[in-house]
Amino acid sequence: MKQKLVFATHNPNKIKEIQELVPPQIELLSLKDINCIEEIEEIGTTLEENAKIKVDYIKNKYGFDCFADDSGLEVDALDGAPGVYSARYAGSEKNNEKNIQKVWVNLLNKKDQTAQFRTIIAANIEGKEFICEGKIRGTIIKEKRGEGGFGYDPIFIPEGHSKTFAELGKEIKNRISHRAKAFTIFLDKLNTVV
Ligand code: IMP
Repeated sequence: MKQKLVFATHNPNKIKEIQELVPPQIELLSLKDINCIEEIEEIGTTLEENAKIKVDYIKNKYGFDCFADDSGLEVDALDGAPGVYSARYAGSEKNNEKNIQKVWVNLLNKKDQTAQFRTIIAANIEGKEFICEGKIRGTIIKEKRGEGGFGYDPIFIPEGHSKTFAELGKEIKNRISHRAKAFTIFLDKLNTVV
């Protein structure tokens, strides 16, 4: 029988992407698959805390082995903000346009425009708890460029490139992104613990 592993996300696209990459003896389940329809409150003050909150919630309430991810944009001159608050930087309505405007305003008088995207994956598999991290460094630009991606993609140029994440397209972004790096480390680790 396949070993069940919950990916604590409500996003079916994330599940589909990862399903093809996990070892064949593992059946990946979404929150919907285990009838968890409630929103797990992300009340942590770090990406690590939030990822762990989701994992612990599922483990304690539903008993499944589980992993969860949390990501954010960390701007150097803003002491790592918006960080864990990236989605709701400009308010609880999670408006991308307003979030970008707020980054620009806060960077107005700053010389240093460098930043990084960071992803944390927390996991609890057969009682073994671990954390994986993926980062990509880059620069914030003062205009929006490109139509692809989401969030802060149109204003972030990854190091070694001249185009924003939104211009580079899904294929390149998915190869070099913070999320891709964290998931590669996670999948390696998964193969050693199952
Ligand atoms: P999540 O943890 O993946 O849901 O990411 C939280 C927030 O961080 C998103 O709502 C975006 O504002 C921002 N973010 C995370 N990853 C990316 C990315 O790859 N591109 C642009 N914005 C991102």
